[in-house]
Amino acid sequence: MSEMPAAHAAARELPPLVELTQLQQRGVDCVFCGITLVPGDVTDLGDQLADVFGTAVTWFPRAHPRCLGGVS
Ligand SMILES: [Zn+2]
Repeated sequence: MSEMPAAHAAARELPPLVELTQLQQRGVDCVFCGITLVPGDVTDLGDQLADVFGTAVTWFPRAHPRCLGGVS
């Protein structure tokens, strides 16, 4: 049996897209702490829809599993 980590992807509210750096918006850096992500220590948060100055934008945030909460 295997469980998909996506099950708790929405455990924490994402910061507003406009407050993030370009690297965070592109999923290069963690959306929560801003540190560059490395393979094996990444949770893909899936596609998110954001409103940027009245325009609907789809983006693909990623984060450290620990930054999503649940583990202190
Ligand atoms: Zn992080």
